[in-house]
This record gives sequence, C-alpha cells and structure tokens, in this order.
Amino acid sequence: MRFSKRVVLVTGGARGIGAGCTRVFSREGAFVAVVDRDLEAARALVEALPHPAVAIQADVSSESQILEAINETIARFGQLDCLINNAGIHPPDTPLTAMTPEQVMDVLRVNFLSTYTTCYYALEHLKKTKGTIVNISSMTAVLGQRNSTAYAASKGAQLSFTKSLALECADFGIRVNAILPSNVDTPLMRSWAATLADPDAALERIAALQPLGRMADVEEIGRVCLFLATEDSSFITGQGLQVDGGASLDY
Ligand code: NAD
Repeated sequence: MRFSKRVVLVTGGARGIGAGCTRVFSREGAFVAVVDRDLEAARALVEALPHPAVAIQADVSSESQILEAINETIARFGQLDCLINNAGIHPPDTPLTAMTPEQVMDVLRVNFLSTYTTCYYALEHLKKTKGTIVNISSMTAVLGQRNSTAYAASKGAQLSFTKSLALECADFGIRVNAILPSNVDTPLMRSWAATLADPDAALERIAALQPLGRMADVEEIGRVCLFLATEDSSFITGQGLQVDGGASLDY
C-alpha cells in the first residue's frame, strides 16, 4: 500500500497508459480521480477498481472543464497528492504542409496547454500536500518523429515545461517530472498504426524498435508514475525519464 488514502488525478485515465496508471495507483490504496472525455469508459474502469475512485467527464482542451474536474476531485476526496497529465492525441502520419497551423493548435491544446492548465489550477492543492506532478511526454520530444512535427513539438513543450516548473515548485516541496515512453501498446498506438499502409507489419516493426523486443505494457508506465509519485524518488525532480525498452540505444 504505497499510496494509501492519498489522492491522484489522472487525465485520460480511462484507457491506455492512463488506465494503467489508474489501476496501479488503486491497487496501492490510492483514491483515483479518473478524468476523461469518455465517461462510459471511465465509469467502467472505476467500478472495477479495488479502492474508492471517481469518474469525471472532462475534455482537457477546455479550461473550465479542467477547473471543474479539479474542484470535483477536491470535493470528493478533500486533497490532491499527485497529478498525472496523461491525456493526449496523436494525429495521423502527416507531413508539415498537410497540417494547417490551426490543426497544430488543436494538438497543442490537448497535449500541452492542458498540462499547463491542470498545473495552473492544481498547484494550490499540491502545495498543501507537498505533492507531485508527472507529465506523460514522449521519446519523440528528444528524438523527433517523421511526419509528426506537431505531436513531437507538443511533447517537447511538456518536457521543457516540466523542467521549468520543477524549478518554480522546488520551494513548495512539489516535485515535477516527466516520463518519455517510446512505444506502448494502447488503443492510441493501434489506431495510429491503422492509418499506415500495413498496420500489422507496422506494429511488428514498432515492437522491434525496442531492444527488449516488444512495446511497453500500460502498467509498466503506471509503475514508473508510482515511483515518481512516492518517496522512493524523493531526490528526483525536473527529469524526463526515458522509459523506452532501450529504443534510444545502439546508434
Ligand atoms: P489512448 O488514446 O490509448 O488513451 C488516451 C485516453 O485519453 C483515452 O481514454 C481518451 O479518451 C483520453 N483523452 C484523449 N483526449 C482527451 C481529451 N481532450 N480530454 C480528456 N480525455 C482525453 O492514448 P495512450 O497511448 O494511452 O497515450 C496516453 C499519453 O501517452 C499521451 O499523452 C501520449 O502522447 C503519450 N504517449 C503514448 C505512447 C504510446 O506508445 N502509446 C508513447 C509515448 C507517449
């Protein structure tokens, strides 16, 4: 019980990596606020959890919905110990000239501005608990990704934001870190692969990118989040932890 009766808010917590985080924290005794635009999926997950949790419908591209979600979490559980900014989208494989600046803004709004906004509203609560923030960035933040300029830039923004906010939050005893996964087997990964010419071959190729020979499981990312949220990582802040099965090695 490494997070017993402590409260974690997970954006995009109903599916994929977010669901992995939700399950890992709940098993450790946490009260989880599963914030997702898909209320049905969030409710189904919450019902299956071993400890109290709440499903909250919110689109993280909306500032007012983020504020409501945080307020609802505090109203229900009274405090906030960890904020996991996980909700994100990956547009289909698109070269720069095929994506308009307005479409880029849509990606930034969900993948980056939501991270800024949740922190903006959650900080006062995290100060009271000396809590932690974990931002789910991506290896694309440091490696880039072909035909994904907007996505990679949004993830890079999350990473530099993490470092700057960690500096600002150190005085409050709040630690801020990011996780940079390479490839994780999630609904997003599978729907992105489906936009490519041969999805099955693409998934095999993507699995082979990791020297460990496979993609990560969502709970493997959830366990790294738990590490960054507990005293086990008490001297780590402002870091982008590369959780990539070795994918960045062996140039
Ligand atoms: P996913 O699509 O499988 O799950 C995302 C969840 O977030 C869904 O439940 C969805 O409903 C929710 N969501 C999406 N947009 C939302 C919005 N605007 N408001 C509220 N909820 C929203 O995705 P995933 O693969 O689990 O990815 C989660 C995060 O991890 C993303 O930020 C992604 O960029 C990052 N990431 C994923 C991988 C990967 O290989 N899957 C690799 C690196 C980083």
